[in-house]
Amino acid sequence: MTSATHQVAIVGGGMVGATLACLLADKGVSVALIDAAEPSQQWANDDYDLRVSALTLSSVRLLKSLGVWADIQQLGQQSMQKMFVWDHFGSGELLIDSADAGEVDMGSVVENRITVRALWNKLRSLENCDLFTSTQLLNFSSDDAGVDIQLCSQQIRVELLVGADGAHSKIRALSHIEDYGWDYQQQAIVATVRPTMPHQQTAWQRFLAEGPLALLPLRDGLISIVWSTTPAISEELLALSDEAFCRELSVASEQKLGDFELLGARAAFPLKMQFSTEYSQQRVVLIGDAIHSIHPLAGQGANLGLKDAQSLAEVVLQAQQKGRDIASQQVLKRYERQRKADNLVMMGVMDALKRLFTADATAVQLIRSSGMSLLNKLPLLKKQICRYAMGFK
Ligand SMILES: Cc1cc2nc3c(=O)[nH]c(=O)nc-3n(C[C@H](O)[C@H](O)[C@H](O)COP(=O)(O)OP(=O)(O)OC[C@H]3O[C@@H](n4cnc5c(N)ncnc54)[C@H](O)[C@@H]3O)c2cc1C
Repeated sequence: MTSATHQVAIVGGGMVGATLACLLADKGVSVALIDAAEPSQQWANDDYDLRVSALTLSSVRLLKSLGVWADIQQLGQQSMQKMFVWDHFGSGELLIDSADAGEVDMGSVVENRITVRALWNKLRSLENCDLFTSTQLLNFSSDDAGVDIQLCSQQIRVELLVGADGAHSKIRALSHIEDYGWDYQQQAIVATVRPTMPHQQTAWQRFLAEGPLALLPLRDGLISIVWSTTPAISEELLALSDEAFCRELSVASEQKLGDFELLGARAAFPLKMQFSTEYSQQRVVLIGDAIHSIHPLAGQGANLGLKDAQSLAEVVLQAQQKGRDIASQQVLKRYERQRKADNLVMMGVMDALKRLFTADATAVQLIRSSGMSLLNKLPLLKKQICRYAMGFK
């Protein structure tokens, strides 16, 4: 048996895997971070990533604690102070303001590649972290003492293997960890647009009959849209000319932000609910989208993944401090217990909201619309919702 080359190997250097790598390597754990791609290093200032995340205040604080927030601010982010939600049916509307919870911001909207670039910049400066890019994990085998990992380029041996390799996780498949879920029969169209009216640092969300339309405030006064709809309507919207698409968007958003100009391409992602009930096996553990993909209607997927990373880092570092095995079943199960309830509650809430807002029975629509307006008049409940949306329990 060869000795370990690193203590931890993380496969997947997206937002979640790279955050875990920072949290561990910063505290002296030796880490190998492996990604099939080469994270983008440069792009023109007026080029906007279509993959954007509304990060909660709790996630922003985590990134600040890692010392990468200054880099993100310099590369571009947009703080978010309010959330305005309204229904296509009736007059139901809800305004949540960070001031309701005594905070300046609810969080920030950041293009995914900016967050990833800032995290990788930090990782390059950490002696304890080896970065393997443009290579893939081919296979692995674990025993009582460690995990042998076969990459395309070389072989490494570690004490703990972490799968942060996204919704189509190869580590999950190779570990025979089951995933469950269902297809929403919806697609999310994403695009970057320039509105004729200011976004007011507000995340706008209108619940349409076919799914929610989110207009997130982006840097430079722009808007990042996530328009969830049926595959047939998505196909039609994608086939429209830029001008016709923007006209449809103005109508769908009731011109709350005026008219729009499209910047760059549009893309569509199929929407699924997917989760695993088992998070670990012998010396192997999963985090982020590898164990849960949820509907983007409240923008929580990456935020949940960052909490997974934080929680796993905590239990691993505790074990390291006590001189114990960092990959024992006891340690991995502690992480699983800490995260499972939170992940399942959020998945349940998102699924219930999705169903509530696409229900077409008139009675449900009436209750929903008046419930929203009633909620708008209850400051204490609004404060609780606001804190939940900020990522606090
Ligand atoms: C339309 C849309 C809008 C969204 N909006 C929000 C939002 O506002 N807020 C929010 O919190 N979340 C949002 N999400 C969810 C969020 O994007 C994901 O939850 C998040 O990106 C997951 O991060 P991850 O690091 O777990 O996985 P990923 O970002 O998928 O990263 C996985 C990484 O693993 C690498 N990889 C994969 N396989 C291998 C392999 N075999 N070997 C080596 N490397 C590998 C990939 O190259 C990639 O870098 C949205 C999702 C969608 C679809």
